[in-house]
Formats: sequence, structure tokens, C-alpha cells
Amino acid sequence: MIRKASCCCGKCTIDVDGEPAFNAVCHCRNCKKRTGSAFGWSTYFADGQIGSRPAGISIYEVGGSNPQQRWFCTNCGSTLFWKAANLPAHTGVAGGCFADDPVGPPSVTVSNDGRCAWVGLPGDWRTSL
Ligand SMILES: [Zn+2]
Ligand SMILES: [Zn+2]
Repeated sequence: MIRKASCCCGKCTIDVDGEPAFNAVCHCRNCKKRTGSAFGWSTYFADGQIGSRPAGISIYEVGGSNPQQRWFCTNCGSTLFWKAANLPAHTGVAGGCFADDPVGPPSVTVSNDGRCAWVGLPGDWRTSL
């Protein structure tokens, strides 16, 4: 099954084939700032599941302990997808960018030290990838 993730304005889209290898929420500082929200929703697909990269998209390089290249729409600013050093064979796609073509629910919660106290999550989720 092919799903399409798209940015806020719809200019940039990326196709993925099949289900994510990892479907997680992340409470790290980087994900909070990236999304402007309490946590990030990160779906990871094997690179072979990812279609061609869209035009009209720029890269933001993130340093630190887990360097990333993050692709965002130059028109609306949405982060659409990224490559992170800790998962070199996978591509992360922002879970919320599947809003029009939904992906399944997450089953993993990571960087739990940064979790906002008011965020409640199901008790049966794994706590690492
Ligand atoms: Zn856009
Ligand atoms: Zn994170």
C-alpha cells in the first residue's frame, strides 16, 4: 500500500510503500522544537520503502549526539522527512504529515525523560526502538 505524506501547504509530498518499521513518539527537546508541540510523532521506513524526494524542499542539518538531515518545505516550513545517524538505513517521516492518508497508531515512546508530566500514553507501548 502506497501512502502519501504531505507538508502543510501541500507543495511537498513523499510516498511510502507499506507499514513503518518503527512508529514512535519522541519527547526530546529537538522533536518538541521541530513540531512546536509536546512531542514528535516519528514514523521510520526502510529507505527502500521511500519514493523519490520532492522538489521545493530544503535541508536543515542538526548536530549533537544524533546528527540529522531534516528536509522541510521552503514554502510552509513543515518538516516532512529526515535521516538520523542512529537509524542509517531508515528514513523518518513526520507522522502528522500523513493526516490526509493516515498511518497506524504509534506503539513506542522514546526520550521519556523529556515527557511532559501531563502527557498520558497507553501503558503497553515499548520504551525504546
Ligand atoms: Zn509546504
Ligand atoms: Zn526526538
